[in-house]
Amino acid sequence: MALLGPAEIRDLAELLGIQPTKKLGQNFVIDANTVRRIVKAAGVTATDTVVEIGPGLGSLTLGLLETGASVVAVEIDKRLAAQLPLTVERYFPRSQAPSALGSRDRPGCTALTVVTQDAMRVTELPGDPGILVANLPYNISVPVLLHFLDTFRGIRSGLVMVQAEVGQRLAAPPGSKIYGSPSVKAAWFGHWKTSGSVSRHVFWPVPNVDSILVSFSLRETPIGTEQERLATFALVDAAFQQRRKMLRQALAEVLGGSAAASATMQRAGLDPTTRGEQLTVDDFLAIARAMA
Ligand code: SAM
Repeated sequence: MALLGPAEIRDLAELLGIQPTKKLGQNFVIDANTVRRIVKAAGVTATDTVVEIGPGLGSLTLGLLETGASVVAVEIDKRLAAQLPLTVERYFPRSQAPSALGSRDRPGCTALTVVTQDAMRVTELPGDPGILVANLPYNISVPVLLHFLDTFRGIRSGLVMVQAEVGQRLAAPPGSKIYGSPSVKAAWFGHWKTSGSVSRHVFWPVPNVDSILVSFSLRETPIGTEQERLATFALVDAAFQQRRKMLRQALAEVLGGSAAASATMQRAGLDPTTRGEQLTVDDFLAIARAMA
């Protein structure tokens, strides 16, 4: 099956009169090898239903469909969303695979569902996707990812392409310089690791940042309730807003003064003079539980 290269992307953009916008983080992948690498690293198989955030012109969508998987694609840009089934039909016609690929007996376009919405606001998806795969829009990569992990509990694993610094932070362990709020929040949901860098030259237009792949597998059972998650995330935000301060000071405002913050931390079995960058997500959860 043919995937989209530079010429096809240029033709599609011209056909739609698309000028990629920075506001929507529109940098389209123009390299089939990168697409196949992402799909392989994500471990997508013919029995999966994959959710893709921001399918754009369809580079990654076609690669996902090539495996025989079903894809639910959430795109905010109406022109791109409307074109996507047509592109899939053109590059992945009914007469071809998936039977030729030995997978499900369905044409590519019926294995695709397009949801034309802001991914930050979507609360329902068809098909209960189990895997998330996306080249995320850079400006909202972390919040949109956390929104999906919190909202769509059927997701078990995934792989995202993000700005290199963001990906390294998502996967950072406690104690490292780059460990921060995204690292702790991501760890609430599961285990993360970087899976290789991606040249900026596989995109059109070429962005001025490097990208990285980050894979994750989610916990089967959440480590706390939704209420505990919200309390934990509020503590994490406070701790990293003043990351150089000891936690008894950094958490003073949310815990009712530095004496109360010290007492809460001691009840949680933690040293009040420690800094946020030393604590695991379980430690932050212990503080949230000690507040109650
Ligand atoms: N997946 C495509 C690829 O790899 O070539 C496009 C990736 S591009 C980095 C990000 C895509 O996300 C764009 O198509 C953009 O329109 C879309 N997007 C941006 N903000 C969005 C939002 N809030 N909800 C859904 N899609 C969004």
